[in-house]
Amino acid sequence: MKIHEYQGKEILRQFNVPVPRGIPVTTVNDALAAAKELGGRVWVVKAQIHAGGRGKGGGVKVAKTLDEVQTYANEILGMQLHTHQTGPEGQKVRRLLIEEGADIKQELYIGIVTDRGTQRVCVMASSEGGMDIEEVAAHTPEKIIKIFVDPSTGLTDADADQLSLGIGIPATSLPQARTALKGLYQAYWQTDASLAEINPLIVTGEGKIIALDAKFNFDPNALFRHPEIVAYRDLDEEDPAEIEASRFDLAYIQLDGNIGCLVNGAGLAMATMDTIKLFGGEPANFLDVGGGASAEKVTEAFKIMLKNPKVKAILVNIFGGIMRCDVIAQGVISACRTVNLNVPLVVRMRGTNEALGKQMLADSGLPIITADTMADAATQAVAAVK
Ligand code: ADP
Ligand code: MG
Repeated sequence: MKIHEYQGKEILRQFNVPVPRGIPVTTVNDALAAAKELGGRVWVVKAQIHAGGRGKGGGVKVAKTLDEVQTYANEILGMQLHTHQTGPEGQKVRRLLIEEGADIKQELYIGIVTDRGTQRVCVMASSEGGMDIEEVAAHTPEKIIKIFVDPSTGLTDADADQLSLGIGIPATSLPQARTALKGLYQAYWQTDASLAEINPLIVTGEGKIIALDAKFNFDPNALFRHPEIVAYRDLDEEDPAEIEASRFDLAYIQLDGNIGCLVNGAGLAMATMDTIKLFGGEPANFLDVGGGASAEKVTEAFKIMLKNPKVKAILVNIFGGIMRCDVIAQGVISACRTVNLNVPLVVRMRGTNEALGKQMLADSGLPIITADTMADAATQAVAAVK
């Protein structure tokens, strides 16, 4: 789950990471009022969307007068902001963060993720903050330093100083950087984040350390322990089909192809998408109905897939382990009837009660194409859309 920058900064504040003063707003009038309330002479008008790269896309503007605050707020609110993370259709800006302008001397990068290889939390830092960190990683990886944190100690003072010195934080600012880095680590750890990133972390003219940006992603499997994080969810930023799917506890991700996939188990779902591609097709979605899908859940899954106008065929690939094939067959049949299925449907199922399930599909009178192997299923689905 993703959140907005202004929400990320609320979290950072709670963990003693210094951030600029700022006020989130949704109208131009409120933007102006916020700038007046903040006072000072420089303000930054920042689009709040669930994607980075806003600066380059025209979603972050520095205003030197209240008139400029008004002009930029007017310009950015409601715009369709395109960044390298939004996809070609962009994302509509519904909210702004009006922030006090900071006196930037150095722009640094700090990011935290969990590294599966070492099974540790990895803190990455670079002196090349503020720009595309992906570019730095691709062309000058030596400019990114990493620390793998010992979970029994957490990020230590020594770890923090090693990172700070490695990215050129001046010695006089080390104590402040220690607080900021340890705070960010604690924020990551205690909220069950899967990503915490400050880009840029700045050193000001006076040597202060401030987080000018904040990006957090959270592990959805841990959200049950964090009602305060769930409260940050902004449904305007999420794909409507994916919201609908999450209501039924279905893991659904819409893609660009035309073969809808309904599969049980994330691994099998990925393998199914790979197989479709191997045989020259393009999956329209990832969809994992989970281990114990009921007929109702399967019906909802069909409805969600079919809302995507690109879908020209559906491939159901089920392994009947915990779930029996006859239950799935029942679900598929009732779903086809409920949604009046009008695209070709290929079904492959293996496992418990396979013969019974296949018999039920055959007896249903529905024009279902059955397949035995994954190759066979993918071939049939690809042929059906052509
Ligand atoms: P994004 O990463 O989405 O482009 P950022 O919040 O990192 O958005 O802002 C982009 C750039 O704008 C930063 O690298 C920084 O140079 C500048 N900036 C952002 N916030 C402020 C601020 N409060 N004061 C001064 N400059 C800022
Ligand atoms: Mg940034």
